Order: sequence, then structure tokens, then C-alpha cells
Amino acid sequence: MIETKIKQTVRDVNDFPKPGIVFKDITPILKDAVLCGEITAALASQLADIKIDVIAGIESRGFLFGMALANLLNVPFVPIRKAGKLPHKTIQQSYDLEYGSATLEMHEDAVLPGQHVLIHDDLLATGGTVVAASKLIEKMGAVVAGYSFIIALDFLNGKDRLKTFSDHNFALASY
Ligand code: AMP
Repeated sequence: MIETKIKQTVRDVNDFPKPGIVFKDITPILKDAVLCGEITAALASQLADIKIDVIAGIESRGFLFGMALANLLNVPFVPIRKAGKLPHKTIQQSYDLEYGSATLEMHEDAVLPGQHVLIHDDLLATGGTVVAASKLIEKMGAVVAGYSFIIALDFLNGKDRLKTFSDHNFALASY
């Protein structure tokens, strides 16, 4: 089962990037080419019934499988990046962090009004990042088609915050 394989392969790193956080390190997954292929196929099959025009991946680990997934589904991939990284004109959305705030950006021509955009990231924690990404997509007049994660930390209840934007929320491995 894909969930078991993911859980057996992900590395838990205690107290990274700060005390009390158990960081789910997906780099051991990236070293397993067979598992990477299985993950991409499993992500795609969860999305089979959803209309998707574009996949937006969140910097930086959301780029890894986001691009592979877009390629498999034969749809465009667009990056959502931290402020100051994208070279062309951007649309921005700020969001609160535990301490301070952060800003996400997309190129202003990344998606078209009315397009259905699937948001992908490696992991759903509190949901703050993908809520900001969703607001960014709606600012551009596009529609959030749903969410796709490799891992979801269900005990942080991030899922509840995403229902405002879409009921389609998928993860391959939940904790
Ligand atoms: P959040 O906005 O709280 O849902 O955090 C999600 C973002 O932070 C994702 O881009 C994750 O890659 C990263 N992240 C948050 N918590 C963890 C964790 N425990 N292990 C790995 N990545 C994490």
C-alpha cells in the first residue's frame, strides 16, 4: 500500500527547524525512483474525477511532484513562490506566520480567469500556506479545483480551513 511505503520511507527529524517540530523529510523518497513513480501515479488517480486546467506547486517541495503530476496529467505547471523570486510581474498574497508574516507570489499571467487550478504541496500542516495560495488563485479570477498533498498532518486540522475554497482535498499518507 502506497501509504505504508511513504510512511516507511519518510524520515522524521525531531526539533527541525525549531524545538518541538517533527519535520517530515521527503528526501529519502526522492532517492527511490520506483516509489516516486508510484506516488505520482497515486496522486493522479486520486484526481481522476476532478476538472483540472493547471497545477500550481508551492515552493519548494511542492515543485518536485507538482511538475511530475502536471506532466502525467498533461496540464500546465505553474510555480507559487516566496516573495522576490519570480522575475516577471507578479500578484501577491501575504499571510501570518507564528512570528511575523510571509508573502507568496505568482506571475500575473500564470493562470487565466475561470481556469480550475489544483494546488499541490508535499505536506499539509496548519493550512496557512495553501490558504494564502488559494486566495492568490481567486485574486486572479481562477477557481481552486482542489488540493493534493503527499502527507497531511490531520491533527493540525488544516483540512477544515480549506473547505471554504474546495471540498476536494487529497493526501496519500495521513498522520
Ligand atoms: P502550513 O502552512 O502550516 O500548512 O505548512 C505547510 C508548509 O510548511 C509546507 O510547504 C510544508 O512543506 C512545510 N511544513 C510544515 N510543517 C512541516 C513538517 N512537520 N514537516 C515537513 N514540512 C513541513
